[in-house]
Amino acid sequence: MSNNSNAQVIYNNELINTQTVVNYQQTKNNNANDANLYLAVDNTQVVSNEEIDEVKLKKAQEIILQLQAEMGDYIAKGSGPFLAAVIDENGNIMSKTANSVVSEECSNNHAEMNAIKAAQKNLGTYDLSKHNLSLYVTSEPCMMCIGGIMWSGIKAVYYGVPSKRVEEITGFDEGFKPNWFKEFKNRGITVYGNIEVEAGEKVLYDYVNTGKTVYQPQR
Ligand SMILES: [Zn+2]
Repeated sequence: MSNNSNAQVIYNNELINTQTVVNYQQTKNNNANDANLYLAVDNTQVVSNEEIDEVKLKKAQEIILQLQAEMGDYIAKGSGPFLAAVIDENGNIMSKTANSVVSEECSNNHAEMNAIKAAQKNLGTYDLSKHNLSLYVTSEPCMMCIGGIMWSGIKAVYYGVPSKRVEEITGFDEGFKPNWFKEFKNRGITVYGNIEVEAGEKVLYDYVNTGKTVYQPQR
């Protein structure tokens, strides 16, 4: 732990300089399946690729709890157990969509991909960057969705349950995502993860325990 203004942290075996971290530990632990720059010290295990901003985090906690609370209704209608929303800086919802892989027979239809596609359709542009939009999602984006987010112009990602826990609870394969916190930081995309994990895990357990589909291509 260090609050040194010129502190260095090990980040995927690279030494990089970081700015001052007040009230948050710098960490080299792998708490979100990647090395992370910042970890909340209050044991909420929130991780970010920027100095944690309490205002952004509080807003994200409220939104993700709300998405988790709504997920049961989507699941009851045949959706997969993931819900995403694209929201602007004033709180306007550009899109809100669940995973529809099974119901629409399309392996691309993860919640995040659906949300990006709907936001782009609503705004009439393939480039969301000028709209300063954030993506909120109940679980960590998978390998495909990280690519989709990167090319969409989304400026920030806030997610709930980390992929490692999604895989442990459900058996879904989240893919491989080397250095994605750092790669997103390099591209100007903020990431906050492990937000309201307990509530998110409960929804995933319910999904599995009620015998819902955990789909995988046969390999
Ligand atoms: Zn995905």
